[in-house]
Amino acid sequence: MNSNFLFDKKICPHCRGKLKRIVKNEYVGKEATVMSTPLDMYEFKNFYYCDFCKQEYSLTELSERRKNK
Ligand SMILES: [Zn+2]
Repeated sequence: MNSNFLFDKKICPHCRGKLKRIVKNEYVGKEATVMSTPLDMYEFKNFYYCDFCKQEYSLTELSERRKNK
């Protein structure tokens, strides 16, 4: 992945509109800790939302689409 990609302006692949960034807290499973009590682990993930298409894209999706151009 291009290292500049994260800082690029995100544009909807369908309507070329500006995408709104949303951050999601995604559950990734339990992880054992030192205290041996499994903890629920969450991961922050960036998503991009298009108001016009009512469609949501992950960073990976956006970079895949770009690569195919
Ligand atoms: Zn759109």
